Amino acid sequence: MKILTIVGARPQFIKAAVVSHVLRKKHQEVLVHTGQHFDYNMSQQFFEELNIPAPDYNLGIRGGSHGEMTGKMLMEIEKVLVKEAPDWVLLYGDTNSTLAGALAAAKLHMPICHVEAGTRTHCRTNPEEINRICTDHVSSLLLGCTASAMEEMKREGLETRGVLVGDPMYDAFLEYSGKKEITDIELQLLSGGTAAVPEKYCYLTCHREENTNRDEDLREIFKAMEQLDFPVIYPVHPRNHVRALRLQAEMQLNNVLLVQPVGYLESACMVKNAQLVVTDSGGLQREAFFAGKKCVTLLDFVVWPETMVGNRNVLAKPKAEEILEKIAIPQEISKNYSPFGDGHAAEKIVNALEKINEKGIDK
Ligand code: UDP
Repeated sequence: MKILTIVGARPQFIKAAVVSHVLRKKHQEVLVHTGQHFDYNMSQQFFEELNIPAPDYNLGIRGGSHGEMTGKMLMEIEKVLVKEAPDWVLLYGDTNSTLAGALAAAKLHMPICHVEAGTRTHCRTNPEEINRICTDHVSSLLLGCTASAMEEMKREGLETRGVLVGDPMYDAFLEYSGKKEITDIELQLLSGGTAAVPEKYCYLTCHREENTNRDEDLREIFKAMEQLDFPVIYPVHPRNHVRALRLQAEMQLNNVLLVQPVGYLESACMVKNAQLVVTDSGGLQREAFFAGKKCVTLLDFVVWPETMVGNRNVLAKPKAEEILEKIAIPQEISKNYSPFGDGHAAEKIVNALEKINEKGIDK
């Protein structure tokens, strides 16, 4: 089989890493990087650390509004698809790169396999929700990470195209989270200079459109972080650099270390060693769960219902008081609860593709 994989953003590099390693043992993979994430520590570092083969195409498309970015990607991906004529187009997650790949492939009648299918927030103002819904509805093979994703597929009449495979982020976490020691991690401060990882800390990430459009939200988040008993490490997504630095100066933050984004090996290690995770990232919510860490999610919708069981993950609006209240809620851990698969999602993804390809699909 010839599979054309489209990636563009940090979480997609992580998922594609584990799947590519399995896929390439038996099949030909053409890797397309749209360019959506482009800084060294948001892109190339992941390719190096996770040993991802270099992309066959880098489309270099970055920035702009949703429409502009998606439109440019659509035009360029179409050219690559026509040239490569793959048997399948493989897409991950919910970014603009996912949506552009889905639209380009569907219009060319090329079958699409969507990994992380069926994930729903039921919030139409969440930009990723639109990408998820559109991609699922034009895909021929929908690979779900969890039982709740399969339920969502059923609700939308998609279950005949769905297969439960588990979460490749779990595979990645099992494979990579022990590869780096906390003492090997040198944090690059956003304001210049370096720092070691403190012994006890809270790991904060915040980059969703919902939390980065106004000063007020980040100010409230920082206000809560300043009151914790241990320091907070915040690797700042490029989308938030300017605002975070400005607020740091304005609020004279003492407890929050603003640092450059870290690589995946560093991030996974930091999750494992953190006292607490506060985030609006879909990936980090799951990693906190995998590591048994309490997580407070800075969103008002649930992305991964399985992580919410026993208050392991709780939602908080970006309001200081609410964040602190939610941090104080204890979590109940049940050791036998493992809803994200068995750590072999990558093999199951490749098997599902082989099976459906052999059987043939109704385009
Ligand atoms: N991550 C990373 N470096 C960082 C912050 C996060 O490698 O500085 C990892 C994190 O461990 C998780 C993934 O990036 O695996 C999540 O990506 P992101 O938050 O950008 O996207 P989302 O998961 O929300 O789609």
